[in-house]
Amino acid sequence: MRFRLVDNIWDELKRYTVDDNYILITDDNIYRLYKDDIDRLLCVRNNILLIKPGEESKNLENVVKIYDKLVEKNIDRNGFILSLGGGMIGDLAGFAASTYKRGINYVQIPTTLLAQVDSSIGGKTAVNYGGYKNLIGTFYFPVETIIDIRFLKTLSKRDFISGLGEVVKYGIIADYEFFKYIKENLNGIFDKEDNILRYIVGKSVEIKSSIVEKDKFDLNIRHNLNFGHTVGHSIESHFNYEMYYHGEAVILGMLVELKIAYLKGLIGNEYFEEIRALLLSLIESYKFNEDEIDGLIKIMKNDKKNIDRKIAFVLPVGKGKVDTFFDIEEKTIKDAFLTYYRE
Ligand code: NAD
Repeated sequence: MRFRLVDNIWDELKRYTVDDNYILITDDNIYRLYKDDIDRLLCVRNNILLIKPGEESKNLENVVKIYDKLVEKNIDRNGFILSLGGGMIGDLAGFAASTYKRGINYVQIPTTLLAQVDSSIGGKTAVNYGGYKNLIGTFYFPVETIIDIRFLKTLSKRDFISGLGEVVKYGIIADYEFFKYIKENLNGIFDKEDNILRYIVGKSVEIKSSIVEKDKFDLNIRHNLNFGHTVGHSIESHFNYEMYYHGEAVILGMLVELKIAYLKGLIGNEYFEEIRALLLSLIESYKFNEDEIDGLIKIMKNDKKNIDRKIAFVLPVGKGKVDTFFDIEEKTIKDAFLTYYRE
């Protein structure tokens, strides 16, 4: 895995576009925002494939469009797919790259915070199918991932916070000093100060890639990355992926799972309050009613991380440490949902 944080992405990309053996895949929003730079970069206008923004576009029809473009441009195995976008574009382009001619070079240029710190790291590619998220996918690693934090300046506040949830998660699961840094620099983060953004993105990439390096195919230690995700995924799914962005659901998920850890005596009051305060400063809490909680638990019972029908939770057990538990009673889960927020 090769990651580089760079100061001028357009200069860096020139070496991939000197001849005609590449296609660039991006979405309409990114093209609108960065049209001048993109047009200057392309040597031929029809090397670009524009995808409609939004999660609905992460589908097999668009994979076919990518194959068609690769065939039309006669891209060979020395050629490149350049994917310029958030997690949607990265997952889609990565899947096409991994299957075309049994694998073609691809370069990821993540443009959202979530993509820079999470989805572009770890080699997971996917498309949605039959109403299921990420049902079809592969493990496939890009030739390199090139990150320019200047893309984050044009990101919406909601998308920025969605990515920030994953950044905070790294501090909680692996590095308490990093968690403190985020807490102490929250204003600078929201002001999108260059040096602070560069630090939090770089540190997040370092933490996630060191975990992935130890467990490329998600068999053991990589599960630690799922803190907040058992509950988070159930929230996304329960609300049909419409009410919350992925990272927002993960922030709520971390709040509920943090409360479970506290109720089980895995962490003390001071640490619990410290994390809760930071997470609640990112998102408005939502009061789940009993019916919703029952629905959410039902979804969690089908989580792919479960073993012997027991729900798997990754929970904090100390500063910068988490562990996996399969023995959390339904009552504790319900209590956590009912009391995770502050009145
Ligand atoms: P996204 O790719 O849909 O981007 C969100 C929005 O931001 C879109 O409207 C996009 O057009 C816009 N955008 C992108 N870059 C921008 C920029 N620089 N300035 C302004 N707007 C910009 O969403 P996302 O949150 O980046 O990614 C979510 C996807 O990632 C989901 O499909 C999820 O399943 C996937 N994901 C994958 C992994 C993995 O390991 N592969 C991990 C987490 C999430």
